Amino acid sequence: MIDTVTNWNEIEDRHSSGVYLKRELQVVRGEGAYLFDETGRRYIDLVGGQGSANLGHAHPAIVQAITEQAQTLISCPELFHNPVRAQYQAALSEVSGFPRVFLANSGTEANEGALKIARLKTGRRGVIAAMRGFHGRTMGALSATWEKAYREPFLPLIDGVMHVPYNNIDKLREALNDQIGAVLLEVVQGEGGVHPAQAGYLQAAQELAHANGSLLIIDEVQTGWGRTGSLFAHWQDGISPDIVTIAKSMAGGVPMGAILLSERIGALDPATHGSTFGGNPLACAAGLAAIKVYTEQADSPALSDQHRPADGDLIRRARTLGEAVREHLRANVPEKAAREVRGRGFMFGIELRGKVAPVLKTLQERGVVALPAGPSVLRLLPPLVIREDALWEAVHIIEETLENAF
Ligand SMILES: *Cc1c(COP(=O)(O)O)cnc(C)c1O
Repeated sequence: MIDTVTNWNEIEDRHSSGVYLKRELQVVRGEGAYLFDETGRRYIDLVGGQGSANLGHAHPAIVQAITEQAQTLISCPELFHNPVRAQYQAALSEVSGFPRVFLANSGTEANEGALKIARLKTGRRGVIAAMRGFHGRTMGALSATWEKAYREPFLPLIDGVMHVPYNNIDKLREALNDQIGAVLLEVVQGEGGVHPAQAGYLQAAQELAHANGSLLIIDEVQTGWGRTGSLFAHWQDGISPDIVTIAKSMAGGVPMGAILLSERIGALDPATHGSTFGGNPLACAAGLAAIKVYTEQADSPALSDQHRPADGDLIRRARTLGEAVREHLRANVPEKAAREVRGRGFMFGIELRGKVAPVLKTLQERGVVALPAGPSVLRLLPPLVIREDALWEAVHIIEETLENAF
Protein backbone atom coordinates (compact mmCIF):
# COMPACT_ATOMS: atom_id res chain seq x y z
CA MET A 1 0.00 0.00 0.00
CA ILE A 2 2.63 2.52 1.10
CA ASP A 3 4.82 1.68 -1.93
CA THR A 4 2.00 2.26 -4.41
CA VAL A 5 1.28 5.58 -2.76
CA THR A 6 4.90 6.74 -2.87
CA ASN A 7 4.97 5.86 -6.55
CA TRP A 8 1.97 8.01 -7.37
CA ASN A 9 3.51 11.00 -5.63
CA GLU A 10 6.77 10.49 -7.48
CA ILE A 11 4.99 10.08 -10.80
CA GLU A 12 3.11 13.32 -10.18
CA ASP A 13 6.33 15.15 -9.30
CA ARG A 14 8.04 13.81 -12.41
CA HIS A 15 5.32 14.79 -14.87
CA SER A 16 3.70 17.94 -13.52
CA SER A 17 5.08 21.33 -14.61
CA GLY A 18 6.99 21.88 -11.39
CA VAL A 19 5.42 25.21 -10.40
CA TYR A 20 3.79 23.80 -7.26
CA LEU A 21 5.78 22.91 -4.17
CA LYS A 22 3.66 20.06 -2.85
CA ARG A 23 3.21 18.98 0.73
CA GLU A 24 3.87 15.44 1.92
CA LEU A 25 0.21 14.56 1.77
CA GLN A 26 -1.85 12.68 -0.78
CA VAL A 27 -5.50 13.65 -0.60
CA VAL A 28 -7.86 11.03 -1.95
CA ARG A 29 -11.28 11.92 -0.56
CA GLY A 30 -13.19 14.65 1.22
CA GLU A 31 -16.40 14.87 3.19
CA GLY A 32 -17.65 18.13 4.62
CA ALA A 33 -14.68 19.79 6.33
CA TYR A 34 -12.60 16.59 6.49
CA LEU A 35 -9.97 15.35 4.05
CA PHE A 36 -8.66 11.78 3.95
CA ASP A 37 -5.29 10.50 2.76
CA GLU A 38 -4.56 7.17 1.07
CA THR A 39 -4.25 5.37 4.41
CA GLY A 40 -7.64 6.65 5.55
CA ARG A 41 -6.16 9.17 7.98
CA ARG A 42 -8.50 12.11 8.56
CA TYR A 43 -7.49 15.79 8.51
CA ILE A 44 -9.49 18.84 9.53
CA ASP A 45 -9.48 21.00 6.42
CA LEU A 46 -8.70 24.66 7.09
CA VAL A 47 -7.35 25.07 3.54
CA GLY A 48 -10.88 24.86 2.20
CA GLY A 49 -9.68 24.40 -1.37
CA GLN A 50 -7.88 27.78 -1.04
CA GLY A 51 -11.31 29.32 -0.74
CA SER A 52 -13.10 27.15 -3.29
CA ALA A 53 -14.63 24.75 -0.74
CA ASN A 54 -16.94 26.99 1.30
CA LEU A 55 -19.56 24.23 0.99
CA GLY A 56 -17.08 21.56 2.04
CA HIS A 57 -16.33 18.41 0.10
CA ALA A 58 -18.85 16.15 -1.63
CA HIS A 59 -21.79 18.34 -0.72
CA PRO A 60 -24.83 16.23 -1.65
CA ALA A 61 -26.65 19.12 -3.36
CA ILE A 62 -23.64 19.80 -5.62
CA VAL A 63 -23.04 16.09 -6.28
CA GLN A 64 -26.66 15.60 -7.30
CA ALA A 65 -26.75 18.70 -9.52
CA ILE A 66 -23.61 17.85 -11.47
CA THR A 67 -24.53 14.16 -11.77
CA GLU A 68 -27.90 14.99 -13.30
CA GLN A 69 -26.51 17.74 -15.53
CA ALA A 70 -23.64 15.53 -16.76
CA GLN A 71 -26.22 13.03 -17.98
CA THR A 72 -28.12 15.80 -19.80
CA LEU A 73 -25.68 18.30 -21.35
CA ILE A 74 -22.13 19.29 -20.37
CA SER A 75 -21.00 21.61 -23.19
CA CYS A 76 -23.08 24.34 -24.69
CA PRO A 77 -21.24 27.46 -25.87
CA GLU A 78 -23.05 30.75 -25.49
CA LEU A 79 -23.95 30.91 -29.17
CA PHE A 80 -27.00 28.92 -28.04
CA HIS A 81 -29.53 29.64 -25.34
CA ASN A 82 -29.68 27.17 -22.46
CA PRO A 83 -32.33 26.97 -19.73
CA VAL A 84 -29.93 25.93 -16.93
CA ARG A 85 -27.73 28.93 -17.71
CA ALA A 86 -30.80 31.17 -17.82
CA GLN A 87 -31.93 30.01 -14.37
CA TYR A 88 -28.44 30.40 -13.03
CA GLN A 89 -27.94 33.92 -14.39
CA ALA A 90 -31.33 34.98 -13.02
CA ALA A 91 -30.51 33.52 -9.60
CA LEU A 92 -27.04 35.08 -9.55
CA SER A 93 -28.47 38.48 -10.49
CA GLU A 94 -31.11 38.17 -7.82
CA VAL A 95 -28.82 37.21 -4.94
CA SER A 96 -26.05 39.65 -5.90
CA GLY A 97 -28.20 42.61 -6.94
CA PHE A 98 -26.21 42.96 -10.19
CA PRO A 99 -28.55 42.90 -13.20
CA ARG A 100 -26.10 41.38 -15.72
CA VAL A 101 -23.35 38.78 -15.48
CA PHE A 102 -20.55 37.47 -17.70
CA LEU A 103 -19.71 33.84 -16.93
CA ALA A 104 -16.09 32.72 -16.96
CA ASN A 105 -14.06 29.86 -15.47
CA SER A 106 -11.67 31.22 -12.85
CA GLY A 107 -10.81 34.20 -10.72
CA THR A 108 -8.01 35.53 -12.85
CA GLU A 109 -10.22 35.30 -15.91
CA ALA A 110 -12.97 37.27 -14.17
CA ASN A 111 -10.48 40.02 -13.31
CA GLU A 112 -9.01 39.94 -16.81
CA GLY A 113 -12.47 40.58 -18.22
CA ALA A 114 -13.24 43.29 -15.67
CA LEU A 115 -10.09 45.19 -16.69
CA LYS A 116 -11.10 44.96 -20.35
CA ILE A 117 -14.59 46.21 -19.54
CA ALA A 118 -13.14 49.17 -17.61
CA ARG A 119 -11.17 50.20 -20.72
CA LEU A 120 -14.22 49.76 -22.95
CA LYS A 121 -16.56 51.72 -20.72
CA THR A 122 -14.25 54.57 -19.69
CA GLY A 123 -11.87 54.79 -22.65
CA ARG A 124 -9.05 55.05 -20.07
CA ARG A 125 -6.13 52.66 -19.64
CA GLY A 126 -4.97 53.41 -16.12
CA VAL A 127 -5.74 51.13 -13.17
CA ILE A 128 -5.07 51.67 -9.48
CA ALA A 129 -4.69 48.52 -7.41
CA ALA A 130 -3.35 48.02 -3.90
CA MET A 131 -0.04 46.95 -2.45
CA ARG A 132 -0.36 43.37 -1.12
CA GLY A 133 -3.31 42.87 -3.50
CA PHE A 134 -3.77 39.58 -5.35
CA HIS A 135 -5.88 39.31 -8.50
CA GLY A 136 -4.51 36.33 -10.41
CA ARG A 137 -1.71 35.09 -12.65
CA THR A 138 -2.70 35.94 -16.24
CA MET A 139 -1.03 39.00 -17.79
CA GLY A 140 -3.75 41.58 -17.04
CA ALA A 141 -4.70 40.37 -13.57
CA LEU A 142 -1.00 39.82 -12.81
CA SER A 143 -0.33 43.46 -13.62
CA ALA A 144 -2.67 44.36 -10.76
CA THR A 145 -1.18 41.75 -8.40
CA TRP A 146 1.40 43.19 -6.00
CA GLU A 147 3.76 40.34 -5.03
CA LYS A 148 7.09 40.94 -6.78
CA ALA A 149 7.96 37.24 -7.12
CA TYR A 150 4.79 36.68 -9.17
CA ARG A 151 5.12 39.84 -11.26
CA GLU A 152 8.76 40.74 -11.90
CA PRO A 153 9.87 37.81 -14.08
CA PHE A 154 7.15 38.84 -16.54
CA LEU A 155 7.76 42.57 -16.90
CA PRO A 156 6.75 44.53 -18.84
CA LEU A 157 3.12 43.77 -18.04
CA ILE A 158 0.23 46.01 -19.10
CA ASP A 159 1.22 49.60 -18.51
CA GLY A 160 -0.71 52.14 -16.51
CA VAL A 161 -1.23 49.94 -13.44
CA MET A 162 -0.27 51.64 -10.19
CA HIS A 163 -0.23 50.26 -6.64
CA VAL A 164 -1.16 52.34 -3.61
CA PRO A 165 -1.04 51.33 0.08
CA TYR A 166 -4.26 49.58 1.12
CA ASN A 167 -6.44 51.34 3.71
CA ASN A 168 -4.78 54.69 2.92
CA ILE A 169 -7.33 57.02 1.34
CA ASP A 170 -4.93 59.96 0.96
CA LYS A 171 -2.56 57.91 -1.21
CA LEU A 172 -5.48 56.83 -3.37
CA ARG A 173 -6.61 60.45 -3.78
CA GLU A 174 -3.08 61.49 -4.83
CA ALA A 175 -2.82 58.66 -7.37
CA LEU A 176 -6.11 59.35 -9.17
CA ASN A 177 -6.01 61.31 -12.43
CA ASP A 178 -7.95 61.55 -15.68
CA GLN A 179 -6.17 58.49 -17.13
CA ILE A 180 -7.49 56.14 -14.44
CA GLY A 181 -10.31 53.92 -15.69
CA ALA A 182 -10.62 51.67 -12.64
CA VAL A 183 -9.79 51.24 -8.99
CA LEU A 184 -9.48 47.52 -8.23
CA LEU A 185 -9.58 46.39 -4.58
CA GLU A 186 -10.29 43.37 -2.39
CA VAL A 187 -12.55 43.68 0.67
CA VAL A 188 -10.17 41.60 2.74
CA GLN A 189 -6.76 41.12 1.13
CA GLY A 190 -6.43 37.34 1.16
CA GLU A 191 -3.15 36.13 -0.35
CA GLY A 192 -1.54 39.39 0.79
CA GLY A 193 -1.86 38.46 4.48
CA VAL A 194 -5.57 38.67 5.49
CA HIS A 195 -5.88 42.43 5.84
CA PRO A 196 -9.51 43.60 6.11
CA ALA A 197 -10.65 46.98 4.78
CA GLN A 198 -10.94 49.45 7.64
CA ALA A 199 -14.33 51.00 8.34
CA GLY A 200 -15.07 53.70 5.76
CA TYR A 201 -12.11 52.93 3.46
CA LEU A 202 -14.05 51.33 0.62
CA GLN A 203 -16.81 53.94 0.84
CA ALA A 204 -14.25 56.72 0.53
CA ALA A 205 -12.53 54.86 -2.32
CA GLN A 206 -15.85 54.59 -4.14
CA GLU A 207 -16.58 58.30 -3.74
CA LEU A 208 -13.13 59.26 -4.99
CA ALA A 209 -13.27 56.85 -7.93
CA HIS A 210 -16.67 58.08 -9.04
CA ALA A 211 -15.79 61.75 -8.62
CA ASN A 212 -12.81 61.02 -10.89
CA GLY A 213 -14.94 59.28 -13.54
CA SER A 214 -13.32 55.90 -12.70
CA LEU A 215 -15.02 52.58 -12.05
CA LEU A 216 -14.79 50.74 -8.73
CA ILE A 217 -14.05 47.05 -9.30
CA ILE A 218 -14.24 44.86 -6.20
CA ASP A 219 -12.48 41.49 -6.32
CA GLU A 220 -14.58 39.08 -4.23
CA VAL A 221 -12.95 35.95 -5.60
CA GLN A 222 -11.87 34.93 -2.10
CA THR A 223 -14.22 36.97 0.11
CA GLY A 224 -17.46 36.05 -1.68
CA TRP A 225 -20.03 33.36 -0.91
CA GLY A 226 -20.38 33.75 2.83
CA ARG A 227 -16.68 33.64 3.65
CA THR A 228 -16.70 36.87 5.66
CA GLY A 229 -20.14 36.47 7.23
CA SER A 230 -22.33 37.97 4.50
CA LEU A 231 -23.01 36.49 1.06
CA PHE A 232 -20.72 39.16 -0.40
CA ALA A 233 -18.17 40.88 1.80
CA HIS A 234 -18.70 44.36 0.31
CA TRP A 235 -22.27 44.41 1.70
CA GLN A 236 -20.69 45.09 5.10
CA ASP A 237 -18.92 48.18 3.73
CA GLY A 238 -21.97 50.01 2.40
CA ILE A 239 -20.71 50.30 -1.18
CA SER A 240 -22.24 49.68 -4.63
CA PRO A 241 -19.31 48.72 -6.88
CA ASP A 242 -19.60 49.11 -10.64
CA ILE A 243 -18.16 45.64 -11.18
CA VAL A 244 -17.63 42.69 -8.82
CA THR A 245 -15.54 39.67 -9.75
CA ILE A 246 -16.23 36.27 -8.21
CA ALA A 247 -15.02 32.66 -8.61
CA LYS A 248 -13.66 30.13 -6.06
CA SER A 249 -16.70 28.91 -4.08
CA MET A 250 -19.45 30.13 -6.41
CA ALA A 251 -20.19 26.65 -7.80
CA GLY A 252 -19.50 24.49 -4.75
CA GLY A 253 -15.96 23.63 -5.88
CA VAL A 254 -16.62 23.23 -9.62
CA PRO A 255 -14.42 25.64 -11.63
CA MET A 256 -16.30 28.83 -12.44
CA GLY A 257 -15.79 32.58 -12.41
CA ALA A 258 -18.02 35.56 -13.17
CA ILE A 259 -18.06 39.30 -13.69
CA LEU A 260 -21.06 41.01 -12.10
CA LEU A 261 -22.11 44.16 -13.97
CA SER A 262 -24.05 46.93 -12.25
CA GLU A 263 -26.89 48.91 -13.79
CA ARG A 264 -24.35 51.68 -14.33
CA ILE A 265 -22.21 49.42 -16.57
CA GLY A 266 -25.19 47.95 -18.39
CA ALA A 267 -24.79 45.53 -21.29
CA LEU A 268 -21.56 44.99 -23.23
CA ASP A 269 -21.38 45.35 -27.00
CA PRO A 270 -21.53 42.08 -28.97
CA ALA A 271 -18.21 40.27 -29.50
CA THR A 272 -16.21 42.49 -27.11
CA HIS A 273 -15.47 39.49 -24.86
CA GLY A 274 -16.09 35.75 -24.83
CA SER A 275 -15.19 32.29 -23.53
CA THR A 276 -15.73 28.76 -24.87
CA PHE A 277 -16.35 27.15 -21.48
CA GLY A 278 -17.93 30.22 -19.88
CA GLY A 279 -21.56 29.55 -18.97
CA ASN A 280 -21.31 25.80 -19.57
CA PRO A 281 -24.38 23.99 -18.22
CA LEU A 282 -22.35 21.74 -15.88
CA ALA A 283 -20.91 24.70 -13.97
CA CYS A 284 -24.24 26.55 -14.12
CA ALA A 285 -26.05 23.56 -12.57
CA ALA A 286 -23.45 23.46 -9.80
CA GLY A 287 -23.69 27.22 -9.34
CA LEU A 288 -27.48 27.08 -9.11
CA ALA A 289 -27.33 24.31 -6.51
CA ALA A 290 -24.69 26.27 -4.59
CA ILE A 291 -26.85 29.42 -4.50
CA LYS A 292 -29.70 27.35 -3.07
CA VAL A 293 -27.46 26.02 -0.32
CA TYR A 294 -26.03 29.46 0.51
CA THR A 295 -29.47 31.04 0.63
CA GLU A 296 -32.03 28.36 1.52
CA GLN A 297 -31.01 24.81 2.12
CA ALA A 298 -28.46 25.03 4.88
CA ASP A 299 -31.06 23.61 7.25
CA SER A 300 -32.37 20.88 4.95
CA PRO A 301 -32.95 17.56 6.74
CA ALA A 302 -31.56 15.83 3.61
CA LEU A 303 -28.05 16.91 4.57
CA SER A 304 -25.70 14.66 6.49
CA ASP A 305 -24.18 15.90 9.74
CA GLN A 306 -20.98 16.78 7.86
CA HIS A 307 -22.79 19.34 5.73
CA ARG A 308 -25.14 20.95 8.24
CA PRO A 309 -23.88 23.43 10.82
CA ALA A 310 -25.55 23.26 14.19
CA ASP A 311 -27.72 26.35 13.87
CA GLY A 312 -28.64 25.89 10.23
CA ASP A 313 -27.57 29.27 8.85
CA LEU A 314 -24.15 28.91 7.27
CA ILE A 315 -23.45 32.55 6.69
CA ARG A 316 -24.76 34.03 9.92
CA ARG A 317 -22.78 31.37 11.78
CA ALA A 318 -19.60 32.28 9.88
CA ARG A 319 -19.95 35.80 11.25
CA THR A 320 -20.68 34.98 14.90
CA LEU A 321 -18.59 31.83 15.29
CA GLY A 322 -15.76 33.44 13.31
CA GLU A 323 -15.65 36.34 15.76
CA ALA A 324 -15.75 33.95 18.74
CA VAL A 325 -12.82 31.99 17.31
CA ARG A 326 -10.84 35.20 16.67
CA GLU A 327 -11.44 36.30 20.27
CA HIS A 328 -10.34 32.90 21.54
CA LEU A 329 -7.17 33.04 19.44
CA ARG A 330 -6.42 36.60 20.61
CA ALA A 331 -6.76 35.48 24.22
CA ASN A 332 -4.88 32.18 23.92
CA VAL A 333 -2.18 32.43 21.28
CA PRO A 334 0.94 33.43 23.23
CA GLU A 335 2.44 36.90 22.66
CA LYS A 336 5.78 35.32 21.87
CA ALA A 337 4.28 33.46 18.90
CA ALA A 338 1.99 36.00 17.23
CA ARG A 339 1.73 39.72 16.66
CA GLU A 340 -1.89 39.92 15.58
CA VAL A 341 -5.03 37.93 14.81
CA ARG A 342 -7.03 39.43 11.91
CA GLY A 343 -9.95 38.64 9.65
CA ARG A 344 -13.66 38.74 9.07
CA GLY A 345 -16.14 35.90 9.41
CA PHE A 346 -14.49 32.60 8.53
CA MET A 347 -11.40 34.26 7.03
CA PHE A 348 -8.58 34.19 9.60
CA GLY A 349 -5.02 35.48 9.54
CA ILE A 350 -2.55 35.02 12.39
CA GLU A 351 0.55 37.18 11.95
CA LEU A 352 3.36 35.09 13.43
CA ARG A 353 6.68 36.23 14.87
CA GLY A 354 8.47 33.58 12.81
CA LYS A 355 8.07 31.54 9.64
CA VAL A 356 4.75 29.91 8.96
CA ALA A 357 6.17 26.89 7.05
CA PRO A 358 7.25 24.82 10.11
CA VAL A 359 3.95 25.65 11.83
CA LEU A 360 2.01 24.30 8.84
CA LYS A 361 4.12 21.14 8.96
CA THR A 362 3.45 20.53 12.66
CA LEU A 363 -0.26 21.19 12.20
CA GLN A 364 -0.39 18.65 9.40
CA GLU A 365 1.35 16.06 11.58
CA ARG A 366 -1.36 16.72 14.14
CA GLY A 367 -4.18 16.31 11.60
CA VAL A 368 -4.97 19.92 10.64
CA VAL A 369 -4.19 21.40 7.22
CA ALA A 370 -4.00 25.19 6.85
CA LEU A 371 -2.61 27.85 4.52
CA PRO A 372 0.08 30.50 4.54
CA ALA A 373 -0.51 34.08 3.33
CA GLY A 374 3.04 35.25 2.74
CA PRO A 375 6.03 33.97 4.76
CA SER A 376 4.74 34.69 8.28
CA VAL A 377 0.93 34.69 8.23
CA LEU A 378 -1.04 31.56 9.10
CA ARG A 379 -4.29 31.69 7.09
CA LEU A 380 -7.38 29.63 7.86
CA LEU A 381 -10.27 29.21 5.40
CA PRO A 382 -12.45 26.51 6.98
CA PRO A 383 -15.42 25.34 4.93
CA LEU A 384 -18.53 27.17 6.17
CA VAL A 385 -20.12 23.78 6.80
CA ILE A 386 -17.48 22.72 9.32
CA ARG A 387 -18.94 21.19 12.47
CA GLU A 388 -18.41 23.40 15.47
CA ASP A 389 -16.60 20.66 17.44
CA ALA A 390 -14.15 20.13 14.57
CA LEU A 391 -13.45 23.86 14.33
CA TRP A 392 -12.72 24.16 18.07
CA GLU A 393 -10.59 21.01 17.96
CA ALA A 394 -8.51 22.64 15.19
CA VAL A 395 -8.31 25.93 17.13
CA HIS A 396 -6.96 24.11 20.19
CA ILE A 397 -4.38 22.25 18.09
CA ILE A 398 -3.28 25.59 16.57
CA GLU A 399 -2.98 27.19 20.01
CA GLU A 400 -0.93 24.27 21.34
CA THR A 401 1.28 24.28 18.25
CA LEU A 402 1.96 28.03 18.57
CA GLU A 403 2.66 27.59 22.29
CA ASN A 404 5.76 25.57 21.28
CA ALA A 405 6.52 27.19 17.93
CA PHE A 406 9.28 29.76 18.31
C1 LIG B 1 -7.58 33.22 -5.84
C2 LIG B 1 -7.79 34.64 -6.19
C3 LIG B 1 -7.76 35.08 -7.52
C4 LIG B 1 -7.39 34.18 -8.66
O1 LIG B 1 -8.32 33.16 -8.86
P1 LIG B 1 -7.91 31.88 -9.76
O2 LIG B 1 -9.20 31.12 -9.88
O3 LIG B 1 -6.84 31.15 -9.02
O4 LIG B 1 -7.43 32.42 -11.05
C5 LIG B 1 -8.05 36.41 -7.78
N1 LIG B 1 -8.34 37.26 -6.78
C6 LIG B 1 -8.37 36.87 -5.49
C7 LIG B 1 -8.72 37.87 -4.45
C8 LIG B 1 -8.09 35.57 -5.15
O5 LIG B 1 -8.08 35.19 -3.86
